[in-house]
Amino acid sequence: MLMQSNDYSRVLYEMGVGPLWVLRQAEALTLTEAPMSSTETASLSSDVVEAVTDTPAIPDIPQADALVSVVVSVPAKEIAVPEENLAVLPVHSMSWEELQPVVESCRACGLCQGRKKTVFGTGDRQAKWLFVGEGPGYNENLQGLPFVGAAGQLLDNMMKSLGVQRGDQAYIANIVKCRPTDQQGKDRPPTADEVAACLPYLHRQIELIAPQVIVALGKTAAVSLLGLDMETPVGQLRGKLHQFKGIPVVATYHPAYLLRKPADKSKAWIDLCLAMKSLPIISASSAS
Ligand code: SF4
Repeated sequence: MLMQSNDYSRVLYEMGVGPLWVLRQAEALTLTEAPMSSTETASLSSDVVEAVTDTPAIPDIPQADALVSVVVSVPAKEIAVPEENLAVLPVHSMSWEELQPVVESCRACGLCQGRKKTVFGTGDRQAKWLFVGEGPGYNENLQGLPFVGAAGQLLDNMMKSLGVQRGDQAYIANIVKCRPTDQQGKDRPPTADEVAACLPYLHRQIELIAPQVIVALGKTAAVSLLGLDMETPVGQLRGKLHQFKGIPVVATYHPAYLLRKPADKSKAWIDLCLAMKSLPIISASSAS
């Protein structure tokens, strides 16, 4: 995907990230030549990148290199799905065409009661990048689409910084497909039971997509996907390369959090750089 330099600068600006990152040896590369296309980022594994503006502050990729070298192999636990749910969720061999209507009519957990629309997921069904959020919010519940509104726009910018977009090498899904709300009708994280009931759908989506990297947006998405304890500190999630069934998983902040705390956008950018660098590393290690 080609992106004009002004577009690219604006994307990083919207993410709250000042520096433009370019390959050090690629001096002839102009920003009109899609500096962060997935093809080019796939060559980042051994290259050092540097900031070409004088905007300070983001710890650079050598730090991420150190992190990548300590690949954390976290075998995703198989979350125990209650047998009664398996009976109504025979999803493991479903095609896309079979899976979506099953989700739309699903009543496997209590979240079905308050939903307007299920939020199945959207994007390129052969995507290299899979972005996983926690669950639908107010607008998503109304529209049936993931990440709409301001948080969705920020996620779009995060994807653009990687040279991908919705429907083009990127797919967006959530841990649960129906909106969790508290007694006041406000968004809340899904419970462990709700996650267990819904996760088979995401697992099947991952099998069908076969992404090269998964970005978990927020703590709930990360611990649910990786089968970790809900109380796992964020510090144990970010900055490490996890794996889900052999697919690299990088945890970063949820865009809604970044809107509330824009100072952490630079950390999210570091996480995305780690995800970019994971592509060739995992490919190489799995090939050997
Ligand atoms: S959240 Fe998932 S498991 Fe629960 S009703 Fe919705 S689709 Fe079914």
